[in-house]
Amino acid sequence: MGRITVTSPLLPDLEEFGGMLREIWDSKWVTNNGSFHKRLEAALAEYLKVPYISLFTNGTLPLLTALQALDIKGEVITTPYSFVATTHSIVWNGCTPVFVDIEESTCGLDPEKIEAAITPATAAIMPVHCYGKPVNMKAIQEIADRHGLKVIYDAAHAFGVEVDGESVLNAGDLSTLSFHATKVYNTLEGGAMVMHDAETKKKIDGLKNFGFAGETEVVSPGINSKVDEVRSAYGLLNLRQVDSAIEKRRRVAGLYREALKDVPGIRFFDDMPGVRHNYSYFPVFIDAGEFGRTRDELYFEMKEKEVLGRRYFYPLISAFSVYRNLPSAAPENLPVATKIADEVICLPMHHELSDADVERVLDIIIK
Ligand SMILES: *Cc1c(COP(=O)(O)O)cnc(C)c1O
Repeated sequence: MGRITVTSPLLPDLEEFGGMLREIWDSKWVTNNGSFHKRLEAALAEYLKVPYISLFTNGTLPLLTALQALDIKGEVITTPYSFVATTHSIVWNGCTPVFVDIEESTCGLDPEKIEAAITPATAAIMPVHCYGKPVNMKAIQEIADRHGLKVIYDAAHAFGVEVDGESVLNAGDLSTLSFHATKVYNTLEGGAMVMHDAETKKKIDGLKNFGFAGETEVVSPGINSKVDEVRSAYGLLNLRQVDSAIEKRRRVAGLYREALKDVPGIRFFDDMPGVRHNYSYFPVFIDAGEFGRTRDELYFEMKEKEVLGRRYFYPLISAFSVYRNLPSAAPENLPVATKIADEVICLPMHHELSDADVERVLDIIIK
């Protein structure tokens, strides 16, 4: 019995990838908006049902660049229940992160708690569609409009997620994606930003290319986040198989749900009506009293049996030493996030899990 990992990268067919590498070698055009890069942007815009997209070398740099592009200064309201890059991007822009608690139903920012955190210095809200579960975008937009704030979504988990046929990536001012190897859709490392209009795309394309505007003029202190042809080709091939990977994940989620639905002390998410989910993660939340074991006891027992779960997200971003002294980082300010971080464990979830693998995971949980 081998090890069951929490995730497994979706890899393109090596032969097909080799054919594309041959094309790249022959063309001698290896980066700087080459033909595979252009094809991938067009294919992703179509697949994701978004008007404009700009590729980045990872999912962190589009977050940094989004704040820069919108000239955000001052305070940015964000969630402590995310990957640390969300908060880092705010600090890299010289802004102050302000943590607001999450709601239990989505693990995303709680709109009811946002307004109390708004001050005259607040410039933007940066929510996360955690686990690909859409946050309450309508409520967040209403608050933003009322207070003249920008909204930048960290949609790193939300590849392909739609509500009533509309991509969640079209919400807010800008949305960002991560194509890291651990995500539903990957280009090894990679990411993207989604925007509403051609002018913004042009600006973002400039910012990820050192701030160049044309051949001889630099208008901003931009960064280098240009994606090369090799990764673009890899991305094109993976896009062809991402739907079947999501379908396999959906099946695994169904098996987990069926087996866990009557287990005391275990809570998990059901599909939301009208939402196309991507099954990027399968978090379960452990009530230790009812379940009879703590989350950590389960986590280490699984690990001992070579079944790897992930305490995602634990610790909270606000609990890291780099951020814990911020006034908004106090656990009393974040009761729901604090509780969820102690309850959560993401079960193995990827396209290669067999029924036997799923059974092995479940056997440890259901004794
Ligand atoms: C993965 C992830 C990122 C960072 O993406 P990278 O591609 O690893 O830089 C940012 N935010 C969230 C919520 C993530 O899950």
